[in-house]
Amino acid sequence: MKKILIYPHEILRQEAQSVNRIDGEFQGLIDQMLEIMYKAKGLGLAANQIGELKQLVVMDVTPSEEKPNPIVLINPRITELEGEEVGEEGCLSVPDYMAPVKRALRLHLLGYDRNGKEVRLEAEGLLARCIQHELDHLNGVCFVDRLNPVRKVLFRKKWPKIRPKEE
Ligand code: ZN
Repeated sequence: MKKILIYPHEILRQEAQSVNRIDGEFQGLIDQMLEIMYKAKGLGLAANQIGELKQLVVMDVTPSEEKPNPIVLINPRITELEGEEVGEEGCLSVPDYMAPVKRALRLHLLGYDRNGKEVRLEAEGLLARCIQHELDHLNGVCFVDRLNPVRKVLFRKKWPKIRPKEE
């Protein structure tokens, strides 16, 4: 089982490549990412976070008491952003740390599902936030890069004390 890379791992700073072949091996990667995400109780996971520089994200923002509803997005691209909202975010690559981040409230997205079928999605609120967070990862950006300047300073002080030790 692949491990989740911890900030500031250099692969988290790199851009993911677009996917042009969805074969059995890639399906296996999707399943593995979903498994890792659910096990870690995360709302989303980008392929970069397990060391795969591929434009692939998995998400599930369904409340935990409801039936899981996984979303798989390949080569996702935001086509429209609207509004603004500040909300708390966390990240599986930055465990035990949460902070407010300003994001667009609504978005339109174009991408492909796990079978290569085109997906057009309109999202708002938590799902829109989650999508923006995960797509940032594909561009080598982590949510802590988006903190306001004061929080950024606080984070840089705090993180070395709370970050998990690499095995
Ligand atoms: Zn994250």
